[in-house]
Amino acid sequence: MSKKRNLKPESLMMSHGYKPELSEGSIKSPIFQTSTFVFKNAQEGKAFFEVAYGLREKESSEEVGLIYSRINNPDLEILETRLKLWDKADDCAVFESGMAAISTVLLEFLSPGDVLLYSSPLYGGTDHFIKDFLKKIGVHTISFTPNDSQEDIVKRLKNSGIANKLSMIYIETPANPTNALIDIDMCKALADRYSTDDKKVYLAVDNTYMGPLWQHPLEHGADIALYSATKYIGGHSDLIAGACCGNQEVISRVKVLRTFLGNMAAPHTGWLLMRSLETLKIRMEQQAENAQHVANYLKDHPKVEKVYYLGLIPEGTDEYAIYKKQYDSPGAMLSFDIKGKEKDAFAFIDGLKLIKLAVSLGGTESLVEHPATMTHAGVDPAFREELSITEKLIRISVGVENYEDLIWDIEQALEKV
Ligand SMILES: *Cc1c(COP(=O)(O)O)cnc(C)c1O
Repeated sequence: MSKKRNLKPESLMMSHGYKPELSEGSIKSPIFQTSTFVFKNAQEGKAFFEVAYGLREKESSEEVGLIYSRINNPDLEILETRLKLWDKADDCAVFESGMAAISTVLLEFLSPGDVLLYSSPLYGGTDHFIKDFLKKIGVHTISFTPNDSQEDIVKRLKNSGIANKLSMIYIETPANPTNALIDIDMCKALADRYSTDDKKVYLAVDNTYMGPLWQHPLEHGADIALYSATKYIGGHSDLIAGACCGNQEVISRVKVLRTFLGNMAAPHTGWLLMRSLETLKIRMEQQAENAQHVANYLKDHPKVEKVYYLGLIPEGTDEYAIYKKQYDSPGAMLSFDIKGKEKDAFAFIDGLKLIKLAVSLGGTESLVEHPATMTHAGVDPAFREELSITEKLIRISVGVENYEDLIWDIEQALEKV
């Protein structure tokens, strides 16, 4: 038996990156609820700032010293050391929300005049930031949908006349709420095609839906994996947070901008996320198992027209090929079209007893929502139809409850339709 073993992330979530001897032997990291840290002497303060402000490279033996909680804090540092393991990333940066992580990355890697290529549909907040804010500061945007082929996208870039200004590709897969898939390898090929010696085209993937367990964008060549840690990573619907994983160069840049925007997570949020990471794998696995049971039940129900779930993609299709190479599980998010109209969808939603009506996802409790009138109400109605986000569509984030109870709830609510 070999002495050295590469422990799996789930084995490291309780202890990695934390030294009990620095905290009175406490088995758990305390909440370092402090704004600032005392330097031993002036020389140490000087050395810490030199590294923090990038005035010199850190020596290999040197630890980055604690300065001030906007720059660094033990709860965030330990959390980042753990979170990066799932993506096998060099480093990670944690933010006060998913939107803070996303907007900071977009601001760091895009300048006025640059082109951003992005997939549609995107999370509503991201969509708004791209179309309103980035446009206002002179960033050009070009979008594509999961239905577009690589040739379609290349043609669109060519027709824009500014393909040489492409600086970033930003995607979300599976797409919310229909679970349509985008091939990360294809996006990486596009990023390489438009990268030059002077200018790298970065590829960023919002991995909230399937990460950090079941999709690993960095392994497919993405530069940045983004998370709303509010969802599966937090997992208890009791906090808002975000994260960004990538190589050292990327995360160093992101952390510098985070320091100056001041949108890092607070120590208490960091501590709550460490608590959450200990059960991340068992929660997500149970949620996915439950979701497959719920999807199987829905697909045979006479009042259900269509179920959108990765575990039901027909074998032999292009989508199945992407599913097999990119995902380790069908996940715990599903949507379905009910037979009927908005009033039928609402009758179902209002008839549920155990599953709660709320936006958000990834928590221990199951949640239902109506995308066309809620999360995607701001999307242009014609485009919404094109994306299959109709009045019949209902989205469910499956939690850790007993799956037979969930199916009982869905069955009794469908009877009311
Ligand atoms: C929720 C969500 C976000 C935004 O995260 P916040 O933590 O709410 O700021 C971004 N992307 C996806 C896919 C989400 O589900």
